[in-house]
Amino acid sequence: MVPSRRTWNLGATPSLRGLWRVGRAPEPEPGMARPAPAPASPAARPFPHTGPGRLRTGRGKDTPVCGDEDSSARSAARPALAQCRALSVDWAGPGSPHGLYLTLQVEHLKEKLISQAQEVSRLRSELGGTDLEKHRDLLMVENERLRQEMRRCEAELQELRTKPAGPCPGCEHSQESAQLRDKLSQLQLEMAESKGMLSELNLEVQQKTDRLAEVELRLKDCLAEKAQEEERLSRRLRDSHETIASLRAQSPPVKYVIKTVEVESSKTKQALSESQARNQHLQEQVAMQRQVLKEMEQQLQSSHQLTARLRAQIAMYESELERAHGQMLEEMQSLEEDKNRAIEEAFARAQVEMKAVHENLAGVRTNLLTLQPALRTLTNDYNGLKRQVRGFPLLLQEALRSVKAEIGQAIEEVNSNNQELLRKYRRELQLRKKCHNELVRLKGNIRVIARVRPVTKEDGEGPEATNAVTFDADDDSIIHLLHKGKPVSFELDKVFSPQASQQDVFQEVQALVTSCIDGFNVCIFAYGQTGAGKTYTMEGTAENPGINQRALQLLFSEVQEKASDWEYTITVSAAEIYNEVLRDLLGKEPQEKLEIRLCPDGSGQLYVPGLTEFQVQSVDDINKVFEFGHTNRTTEFTNLNEHSSRSHALLIVTVRGVDCSTGLRTTGKLNLVDLAGSERVGKSGAEGSRLREAQHINKSLSALGDVIAALRSRQGHVPFRNSKLTYLLQDSLSGDSKTLMVVQVSPVEKNTSETLYSLKFAERVRSVELGPGLRRAELGSWSSQEHLEWEPACQTPQPSARAHSAPSSGTSSRPGSIRRKLQPSA
Ligand code: ADP
Ligand code: MG
Repeated sequence: MVPSRRTWNLGATPSLRGLWRVGRAPEPEPGMARPAPAPASPAARPFPHTGPGRLRTGRGKDTPVCGDEDSSARSAARPALAQCRALSVDWAGPGSPHGLYLTLQVEHLKEKLISQAQEVSRLRSELGGTDLEKHRDLLMVENERLRQEMRRCEAELQELRTKPAGPCPGCEHSQESAQLRDKLSQLQLEMAESKGMLSELNLEVQQKTDRLAEVELRLKDCLAEKAQEEERLSRRLRDSHETIASLRAQSPPVKYVIKTVEVESSKTKQALSESQARNQHLQEQVAMQRQVLKEMEQQLQSSHQLTARLRAQIAMYESELERAHGQMLEEMQSLEEDKNRAIEEAFARAQVEMKAVHENLAGVRTNLLTLQPALRTLTNDYNGLKRQVRGFPLLLQEALRSVKAEIGQAIEEVNSNNQELLRKYRRELQLRKKCHNELVRLKGNIRVIARVRPVTKEDGEGPEATNAVTFDADDDSIIHLLHKGKPVSFELDKVFSPQASQQDVFQEVQALVTSCIDGFNVCIFAYGQTGAGKTYTMEGTAENPGINQRALQLLFSEVQEKASDWEYTITVSAAEIYNEVLRDLLGKEPQEKLEIRLCPDGSGQLYVPGLTEFQVQSVDDINKVFEFGHTNRTTEFTNLNEHSSRSHALLIVTVRGVDCSTGLRTTGKLNLVDLAGSERVGKSGAEGSRLREAQHINKSLSALGDVIAALRSRQGHVPFRNSKLTYLLQDSLSGDSKTLMVVQVSPVEKNTSETLYSLKFAERVRSVELGPGLRRAELGSWSSQEHLEWEPACQTPQPSARAHSAPSSGTSSRPGSIRRKLQPSA
């Protein structure tokens, strides 16, 4: 057996005989030739019908090698195969000259392409981006295309070389041929099956024939036995008859003998009849055996008929097989022809393509030749550039050095400019502060304004509630009061009519708040009789806040504006002085009496140990602080209104700043004081504790007046210690401090005497002049005890009061303190 399919190598093509071996039916076995009746076997089923149009074929995989009668059919295919083999060997066999030539050519082309690619890459590495490079890129692309084409040709050639010997893929006959082969193998299978069945039947017939012969032999034996018995019996019968006859002729004893014989004869007769019966039985058996024999003969006959039928069918199948084989051979031949044709065509195509590749290659070569001169110029350019580049680092270094020098110079210039600008800025800052200070000073370090509240329901009705205050239409610093029918006029720094809003009043305060940020101490007092509007002006209402909240808001916004240059912290404390006792309104123990002490650092500054300070950063914080203070006061006193009118309420705001660029430190204090009612004791006719309260209030208010008067007249001694209030505010009243007093007055007739008193007090205070605006400043790099004093440009004589608040260098008791007088540049 050989495999049904083999790879067809063009160099060593197998013979067609070797490729396909067609099956042939085997010779029938000798035993099967004798027809004999046989019983119908279940294995002897008839073969499936195969019509002439449905020829069954099979592949020769398991079919036996074909006989000599097939050789004539195959001999016709032989020349075509030989031709094909010759063609294959001649054209493309690995050892053929043409194939060798092609392979060599391909190798040669490959080498050339590689060397050209290398040349191109070398050129590319040497050249910059020019038109020539574009041209070269195009050539590279062309080269690549040619290479791909060549690769394709090679692949085709390879494919042709290794093409399998089987039917061409996609050939229209291949399917049919495969079908035929399948049919053939099926037929062969069926035939082998039939043959098996036939041999089985033959064996059966043989067995049956043997049995038949045996039976016949036994029958013959039986017949011979019977004949012998008959012979023996008839002989005895004859002997008996003779004996009887001889005896009859004898005497009576003979008769007796006869009789005996007769008796014996009956016995013999019985034996005879028995023999006859046995004979009869044997004859029946023989007939039966004959019947069986007959049946077996019939069976044998039918078996023979079946065998004949089967043989006819086998012969028919064999003839069909022969025909299919012939067809297949024809198909194979035509397929081989097709294949050879395809090979020829592919080869011709490959040759044409190779030619085209050659032509392209020639074109590339000429292109390369034209590129050479351009390349040379480019190389020259490149070399020139290379030389330039080599010299470039030196040039660059030179340029860098000069640029560095220029930049350094520019930086120095900018630095000196910056220094100059900084110096100018500081000078401007100082100038601005000086001007501001001067402005405040020109306005007066103690400024007094009056505010007249509107007539309210509480004033009642009637002549007592009539308005006694009028204003000057042309001068907003004049106020006229009709007191007991006499008109009295007062001149203050400013007079606010009842129509003035909280904001209008605050406008007068703004400048002071700003100077507090610059490091000055400021006092703002609200003075006046109870009910004249002091609390309204200082605290205001939630919807319309007074000076306190507005001042803090302004501080926040100012601090925010300066945030790029300055760092500020704002803290607040709240205290009240009642009956000459100082209490902390923000502390945990509001009843606790606080003392005013000199700073232990020897700076001469005063401070209140235990006074709570809250740092605030927003309006919300302030509101919380105020609320807390208010709650403390409410829980402490049952009648808050009455109590608050008998006590001085102080809100102390401290603004500490550090100049980020210079480290200069400033501290400014803003004291917002809602004074106790200024109504006189004698008038109210009070007694007991009420009287004591009134006395304390009067004492502290006159002490305030005295202090201001002493400051005004530049007395050597200022009686700060005469009251808790003046003692506490000593720093903020003396020297460079600024004071604003808002004198609140009631407009109605019934309050005219108190109004008169308040306005007189205001006028007295207004005429007092404080020392020139001096500012405390500390340099950040110095310790907290070491202070700098700024001497104003105008050499105003120092008030004696200064000695108390900020000792000058002459009065300093601290030997180690560093004091430096900074003369601002004019
Ligand atoms: P004081 O604190 O001096 O005793 P208040 O501030 O309590 O006086 O004022 C007494 C009353 O007058 C309050 O009801 C207050 O609302 C009202 N009042 C005072 N000043 C004004 C004003 N400028 N505008 C409106 N109402 C005012
Ligand atoms: Mg009040």
